[in-house]
Amino acid sequence: MSNFLQQQILRMIAATGPLSIAEYMHLCHSHRDHGYYAAGNPVGAGGDFITAPEISQMFGEMIGVWAIGVWHQLGKPDPFQIAELGPGRGTLMKDFIRAAKADKGFLSVINVKLVETSPSLKTEQIKTLKDTPLNIEWVQTVEELESVPTLFIGNEFLDAIAFRQFVKTGGRWRELCIGSDENNELLFTPGTTGIDESLLPEGHEKEPEGAIYETAPAREAITSAIANHVASHSGAALFIDYGHETSGFGDTFQAVQSHKPISPLADPGNCDLTSHVDFEAIGNAAKAEGVRVFELKTQGEFLLELGVAERAGELGQGKPLDVQTQIRADVERLVLPDQMGELFKVLCMTNRAGDLPPFGK
Ligand code: SAH
Repeated sequence: MSNFLQQQILRMIAATGPLSIAEYMHLCHSHRDHGYYAAGNPVGAGGDFITAPEISQMFGEMIGVWAIGVWHQLGKPDPFQIAELGPGRGTLMKDFIRAAKADKGFLSVINVKLVETSPSLKTEQIKTLKDTPLNIEWVQTVEELESVPTLFIGNEFLDAIAFRQFVKTGGRWRELCIGSDENNELLFTPGTTGIDESLLPEGHEKEPEGAIYETAPAREAITSAIANHVASHSGAALFIDYGHETSGFGDTFQAVQSHKPISPLADPGNCDLTSHVDFEAIGNAAKAEGVRVFELKTQGEFLLELGVAERAGELGQGKPLDVQTQIRADVERLVLPDQMGELFKVLCMTNRAGDLPPFGK
């Protein structure tokens, strides 16, 4: 399929050689006019992929209830900044604020900041949140946030940030890049850059030819900035995403269009490009800034321990059978191990001693 961005990428490759996956992904997502997030409206039933807040209002509500608890555990800081990273259509925050109304003290001290780089999604967020009683502000980077105690929330945020791949070839690890063939088709090709082998997970010597290692310096950098904010000004951060607990090998580069997987090279700028989050690397980046990182929970554990099943019962009470059936199906989709419950993990960090239930160790 031919498109504007594809032509531009082909010209770049012709001029300066293959692009790293990180460069490709950054162009595809953030190109000012043709980037996927910059120009489009990708999230939700009518978009390309559906996220937990778009599945059920209970997701944002549970995070709102959790945030009230965190605020109390932190000693009720005033002001308390709530910073959501990559808020998509603004649905999580809408549901969060509804739940936050249960604690008037909390509601009166929070100031909500949405960290968003995409102008079109910002417009969508303004629409979704137009009736909220709170004054919401938008920023583009973590650095623009205020230096006050803050709770950061990022659902399916880290996976959208650029990553790199290295491939084992001829016994060496080389960066996997994107080049083109004589028919002007994009293809994967090992580049010239290598990687310091001390940065690879244990056991790399035993990996076969063609094995892939993924690393995401940009994800670690933004995690460091967030952890540094938490360490310096107090607070906590919650990241929910699909990924693995420990660093390892394997190709998780994926592209989704109209709710179906496609080749990541097939339609640049018109599909969502992601990879699984390496939570060990993210946790280490956070710890290096001096915060505590709790043991990971699966999304299923997190939501069930917060009482999502009880909330579902409450929501369904007195409703017609088909509505109750839908609510049950939505909860199952969020928590069951063979659905989103196990692949999605929840990482929580804080600068404070003590638990932030359900996080305890
Ligand atoms: N959290 C939402 C949307 C996830 S999609 C949900 O759960 O539905 C990823 C989001 O991250 C989008 O809002 C996208 O515009 C945003 N995003 C991607 N890269 C970003 C960056 N570097 N800084 C801030 N937001 C970014």
